[in-house]
Amino acid sequence: MRYYSTNHQAPMATLQEAVVKGLAGDRGLYMPERIKQLPASFYDLIDTLSFQEIAFTVADAFFGEDIPSEDLRHIVFDTLSFDCPVVKVTDHIYALELFHGPTLAFKDVGARFMARLLQYFIRREGSDRVNVLVATSGDTGSAVANGFLGVDGIHVYVLYPKGKVSPIQECQFTTLGRNITAIEVDGVFDDCQALVKQAFLDDQLNAHMRLTSANSINVARFLPQAFYYFNAYARMKALGLGSNMVMCVPSGNFGNITSGLFGYEMGLPIRRFIAANNANDIFYQYLQTGEYHPKPSRQTLANAMDVGDPSNFARVYDLYGGSHERITSYISGATYSDDDIRATMRECYESTGYVLDPHGACGYRALQESLRPGEEGVFCETAHPAKFKEKVDEILGTDIAIPTRLAEFMKDKKNSVEMTRKFEDFKAFLLKE
Ligand SMILES: *Cc1c(COP(=O)(O)O)cnc(C)c1O
Repeated sequence: MRYYSTNHQAPMATLQEAVVKGLAGDRGLYMPERIKQLPASFYDLIDTLSFQEIAFTVADAFFGEDIPSEDLRHIVFDTLSFDCPVVKVTDHIYALELFHGPTLAFKDVGARFMARLLQYFIRREGSDRVNVLVATSGDTGSAVANGFLGVDGIHVYVLYPKGKVSPIQECQFTTLGRNITAIEVDGVFDDCQALVKQAFLDDQLNAHMRLTSANSINVARFLPQAFYYFNAYARMKALGLGSNMVMCVPSGNFGNITSGLFGYEMGLPIRRFIAANNANDIFYQYLQTGEYHPKPSRQTLANAMDVGDPSNFARVYDLYGGSHERITSYISGATYSDDDIRATMRECYESTGYVLDPHGACGYRALQESLRPGEEGVFCETAHPAKFKEKVDEILGTDIAIPTRLAEFMKDKKNSVEMTRKFEDFKAFLLKE
């Protein structure tokens, strides 16, 4: 399979090139040149298959030309060491719980898959250690660090702004040790990102060590997210509820929903999609007007969706040939203020006992407001509410339990390298590695 750039100005790439480079040379996003339909027999039997078996079939359609079947199976099964179950919340609304992985958010799926795929490439080539640089404002760092933890041949450097991530987030990448180095930058997130970007452009550094990024636009993080949409359908079908299913995705950079749309293009029988936004409503406005106007992001309760120029919009646009009409025929939108999010979390908790996190709350609310008679709605619960414990407890008046695997991180000793925001200092540090 070859990969083209959404800007159409860069050469086609192999899977390995697309994964190692992340972004195409023309700054476009890589797209697979073909999306294979899965056979009717697969959909007929899907409700009898396990999540891992379903995921392997989907992975084979994307990566089967590039990776031998047994190796791919191993990568998929090793990635999915946890389940993504569908849980009933109300009569017609179900949560696809994507928070049962090591860092309690859906990004675990893509990060774990990418780590294992990179390791496979390194082993196949017999090449030197690969160094992953990742800047984080909190959640990406934990998913990437844990996804790569203990993976031979890969070292991860997580750059994060000192004092600007929550203690729960910080412990998820500063206590790991082994092949993970946490770098605490005396600055803000943008300083961390600038250091990473400059490192990729520095010839001396690139001659010294092999650098790669694990950005969320990477095809190896993005495509595997399709797995759990198929699982959602399978589990709903097993309940006799698969025939009229609406999928609702709390969206920020739009990577998650775009992988669902890829599933749809492979024949997954989902009726329609809803993109639920917080107050950052750029995509919502695009759906209403056909015009895409990026704006500076606004800070909200659902902060992982605070995105003012969603990077994967380019993929949605490309997938549907830039047709506003086609895009609006598959996807509708919703946008919610922080007050809406709070009210929704309270209403859901009081009427059902289900604790939503602020991101999932946008998804739940959008289904509540727009499901039509006969439709069954499934929303992605993108993170465990305990990841936002202070906010959730304050809104609901609860004292929600912290899952054991999160508490485990908090027991260990923090270990990080202090860094200024000067590139020369960061470079000098890496040259000694
Ligand atoms: C990253 C994230 C999102 C947004 O997902 P996109 O793929 O960027 O649209 C939503 N919720 C949570 C909890 C996240 O971490």
